[in-house]
Amino acid sequence: MESFDAHVHSAISDGTDDPRALVELAAARGVRGIALTDHDTFEGWISAAEAATDSGLTLIRGVELSTSYRGSSVHLLAYLPDRLDEGLLSTMEQIRGAREQRLRRMVEALGEDYPRITWESLLESGAAWAVDEAIPWGRPHLADLLIAEGYVRDREEAFAHLLRPGGPYFAHQWAPHPADMVETVRAAGGVPVLAHPLSRERQRPLPIEVIGDMTDAGLFGLERDHREHDDIARAQIDELARRFDLAVTGGSDYHGQGKPNLLGENATAWSVIERIAEQGRTPVIGL
Ligand code: AMP
Ligand code: FE
Ligand code: FE
Ligand code: ZN
Repeated sequence: MESFDAHVHSAISDGTDDPRALVELAAARGVRGIALTDHDTFEGWISAAEAATDSGLTLIRGVELSTSYRGSSVHLLAYLPDRLDEGLLSTMEQIRGAREQRLRRMVEALGEDYPRITWESLLESGAAWAVDEAIPWGRPHLADLLIAEGYVRDREEAFAHLLRPGGPYFAHQWAPHPADMVETVRAAGGVPVLAHPLSRERQRPLPIEVIGDMTDAGLFGLERDHREHDDIARAQIDELARRFDLAVTGGSDYHGQGKPNLLGENATAWSVIERIAEQGRTPVIGL
C-alpha cells in the first residue's frame, strides 16, 4: 500500500496510541506516510518525528484546529506550520482554554443526573490533559469517564446522546472564525485544508460563501476522502474544488481504540503531498 494518510490522531489529543506507537503501527501496516493532526496542539510532533526517522515513514507534522461558524464547530487541518509562530501558538492556547471551560460546563450539567461525573473524577481519570496545559481537553475524555463509571458502553454511545450537539448536556465551545483561522495558518507558514466539510454526522454544512471567504484567505484544499463522506458527498466536494480551484485530500481520521477508523483507509494523492511540502514552512520528514 503506497498510501499517504493525511489525518491521524494520537493520545496527545483524543486518540489512544502514543505518537511513537502510532508511527510504528503505520510503518508496520505498510502505509507510506501519515500526517499527525492532533487537535489544537503540537505536543506530539517531537516523538512522532523521532519515530518516523527511525522507521523510515514519511511524516507531515500538522494539527487539526478548532474553528466555529455561527455556533457550529468547523475543523481546519493545517500542515507544516512553524511550531514557534506566536500568532498560531496564542490562538491554540486560547482554544485550549475554551475547551476546558466548555468541558467544565458539560461536567456540571451531567453531574446533576449522573452523580459520579465530577470535575475531580475527570481529573483523576486523567491522562496528560489533566496536568499539561499544552494538551487539549475533549469530549472523548468525558466519554471515557462515562464508560469507566458504567454509564455508557463506548464513546459511540456517549456521543449518540449525552455528548451530542443540541443534547441536554451540550455546551458550546468558543473558537475563531474559519476564514480568520486560514489567515493565521498561512501567516504561520502552514497549509490549510478544510476537514470533512460534508460530514452529516457533524453539524450543518458550511455555507458556500464561507468556503469562498476561506479560499480568499488562502485555503489550500478540501478533505474529500473520509469515512463520513459517501459517494454523493465526494462528488460534491470535487465540484467545490473545481469551482474554487482547491486541492482534494483524504485521510482516515484514525483515533486508535476511540473510533472504528483504520489507519490508511483513506489517502491523499502523492502529487498533492508534494505541493503541501513545497508550501509548508516545516520540512516533511522522509520525503
Ligand atoms: P470536542 O473536540 O470536545 O468537540 O470532541 C469532538 C471529538 O470527539 C472529535 O474530534 C472526535 O474525535 C470525537 N467524536 C465525535 N463523535 C464521536 C463518536 N461518535 N465516537 C467516537 N468519537 C467521536
Ligand atoms: Fe478527535
Ligand atoms: Fe475533525
Ligand atoms: Zn480529526
